[in-house]
Amino acid sequence: MSEDSIFGKIARGEMDADVVYENEQVIAFRDINPQAPTHVLVIPRKPIATINDLEPGDRELVGEMFLAAKEVARLEGLSESGYRVVMNCGEGAGQTVFHIHLHVLGGRDLKWPPG
Ligand code: 5GP
Repeated sequence: MSEDSIFGKIARGEMDADVVYENEQVIAFRDINPQAPTHVLVIPRKPIATINDLEPGDRELVGEMFLAAKEVARLEGLSESGYRVVMNCGEGAGQTVFHIHLHVLGGRDLKWPPG
Protein backbone atom coordinates (compact mmCIF):
# COMPACT_ATOMS: atom_id res chain seq x y z
CA MET A 1 0.00 0.00 0.00
CA SER A 2 2.66 2.52 1.04
CA GLU A 3 4.67 1.82 -2.14
CA ASP A 4 1.94 3.61 -4.07
CA SER A 5 1.20 6.46 -1.68
CA ILE A 6 1.75 10.09 -2.64
CA PHE A 7 4.73 10.18 -0.33
CA GLY A 8 6.18 7.10 -1.97
CA LYS A 9 6.09 9.01 -5.25
CA ILE A 10 7.78 12.02 -3.62
CA ALA A 11 10.40 9.72 -2.07
CA ARG A 12 11.15 8.20 -5.47
CA GLY A 13 11.32 11.63 -7.14
CA GLU A 14 8.23 10.93 -9.26
CA MET A 15 6.24 13.80 -7.78
CA ASP A 16 7.28 17.38 -6.97
CA ALA A 17 7.55 18.66 -3.42
CA ASP A 18 8.92 21.81 -1.78
CA VAL A 19 11.93 20.08 -0.24
CA VAL A 20 13.64 21.84 2.67
CA TYR A 21 16.09 19.08 3.68
CA GLU A 22 17.10 15.63 2.45
CA ASN A 23 19.76 13.00 2.82
CA GLU A 24 20.19 9.39 1.73
CA GLN A 25 17.54 8.11 4.13
CA VAL A 26 14.94 10.86 4.58
CA ILE A 27 13.27 13.79 2.81
CA ALA A 28 11.61 16.82 4.45
CA PHE A 29 9.15 18.92 2.45
CA ARG A 30 6.44 21.51 3.10
CA ASP A 31 2.91 20.29 3.79
CA ILE A 32 0.52 21.17 0.97
CA ASN A 33 -2.09 22.30 3.53
CA PRO A 34 -0.03 23.94 6.29
CA GLN A 35 -1.49 24.14 9.79
CA ALA A 36 1.19 26.57 11.03
CA PRO A 37 3.65 29.05 9.48
CA THR A 38 6.12 26.17 9.40
CA HIS A 39 4.57 22.78 8.61
CA VAL A 40 7.11 20.37 7.20
CA LEU A 41 6.76 16.60 6.78
CA VAL A 42 9.74 14.29 7.32
CA ILE A 43 9.46 10.93 5.56
CA PRO A 44 11.82 8.00 5.15
CA ARG A 45 12.70 7.05 1.58
CA LYS A 46 11.81 3.51 2.61
CA PRO A 47 8.05 2.95 2.43
CA ILE A 48 6.61 2.04 5.84
CA ALA A 49 2.84 2.42 6.15
CA THR A 50 2.36 3.16 9.86
CA ILE A 51 4.15 3.04 13.19
CA ASN A 52 2.61 -0.43 13.59
CA ASP A 53 4.71 -1.61 10.64
CA LEU A 54 8.04 -0.54 12.15
CA GLU A 55 10.54 -3.32 12.75
CA PRO A 56 13.64 -3.47 14.96
CA GLY A 57 15.76 -2.93 11.85
CA ASP A 58 14.13 0.49 11.41
CA ARG A 59 15.58 1.75 14.69
CA GLU A 60 18.29 3.86 13.03
CA LEU A 61 15.93 5.16 10.37
CA VAL A 62 13.51 6.47 12.99
CA GLY A 63 16.44 8.21 14.65
CA GLU A 64 17.33 9.78 11.29
CA MET A 65 13.79 11.10 11.01
CA PHE A 66 14.07 12.89 14.35
CA LEU A 67 17.51 14.26 13.52
CA ALA A 68 16.04 15.58 10.26
CA ALA A 69 13.16 17.17 12.20
CA LYS A 70 15.72 18.90 14.41
CA GLU A 71 17.57 20.15 11.33
CA VAL A 72 14.33 21.41 9.76
CA ALA A 73 13.56 23.32 12.97
CA ARG A 74 17.03 24.87 12.89
CA LEU A 75 16.70 25.86 9.23
CA GLU A 76 13.26 27.37 9.94
CA GLY A 77 14.55 29.35 12.94
CA LEU A 78 12.44 27.42 15.45
CA SER A 79 15.10 25.87 17.68
CA GLU A 80 14.69 28.47 20.43
CA SER A 81 11.03 29.46 20.03
CA GLY A 82 9.80 25.87 20.15
CA TYR A 83 8.10 23.52 17.77
CA ARG A 84 6.06 20.32 17.74
CA VAL A 85 6.99 16.98 16.17
CA VAL A 86 4.12 14.53 15.84
CA MET A 87 3.23 11.35 13.95
CA ASN A 88 -0.34 10.11 13.53
CA CYS A 89 -0.89 6.34 13.49
CA GLY A 90 -4.00 5.01 11.82
CA GLU A 91 -7.19 6.59 10.54
CA GLY A 92 -8.54 6.98 14.07
CA ALA A 93 -5.65 9.32 14.86
CA GLY A 94 -6.04 11.27 11.62
CA GLN A 95 -3.46 9.51 9.46
CA THR A 96 -4.42 10.04 5.82
CA VAL A 97 -1.22 9.12 3.98
CA PHE A 98 0.07 5.62 4.69
CA HIS A 99 3.80 6.26 4.46
CA ILE A 100 5.06 7.29 7.89
CA HIS A 101 5.82 10.96 8.35
CA LEU A 102 6.72 13.32 11.16
CA HIS A 103 4.89 16.64 11.15
CA VAL A 104 7.19 19.51 12.20
CA LEU A 105 5.00 22.44 13.22
CA GLY A 106 6.02 25.88 14.47
CA GLY A 107 5.92 29.62 14.02
CA ARG A 108 2.80 30.15 16.14
CA ASP A 109 1.57 29.32 19.65
CA LEU A 110 0.73 25.61 19.78
CA LYS A 111 -1.97 24.44 22.19
CA TRP A 112 -1.92 21.21 24.16
CA PRO A 113 -3.64 18.78 24.00
CA PRO A 114 -4.19 18.83 20.23
CA GLY A 115 -7.73 18.14 19.01
P1 5GP B 1 -1.55 12.71 8.13
O1 5GP B 1 -2.98 13.21 8.22
O2 5GP B 1 -1.46 11.43 7.33
O3 5GP B 1 -0.83 12.64 9.44
O4 5GP B 1 -0.78 13.82 7.31
C1 5GP B 1 -0.76 13.87 5.92
C2 5GP B 1 -0.36 15.27 5.54
O5 5GP B 1 0.05 15.23 4.18
C3 5GP B 1 -1.49 16.30 5.64
O6 5GP B 1 -1.08 17.33 6.52
C4 5GP B 1 -1.68 16.78 4.21
O7 5GP B 1 -1.94 18.15 4.13
C5 5GP B 1 -0.36 16.42 3.55
N1 5GP B 1 -0.43 16.12 2.14
C6 5GP B 1 -1.35 15.34 1.51
N2 5GP B 1 -1.08 15.23 0.20
C7 5GP B 1 0.06 15.96 -0.02
C8 5GP B 1 0.84 16.23 -1.18
O8 5GP B 1 0.56 15.77 -2.29
N3 5GP B 1 1.94 17.01 -1.02
C9 5GP B 1 2.28 17.54 0.22
N4 5GP B 1 3.39 18.29 0.27
N5 5GP B 1 1.57 17.29 1.33
C10 5GP B 1 0.47 16.51 1.21
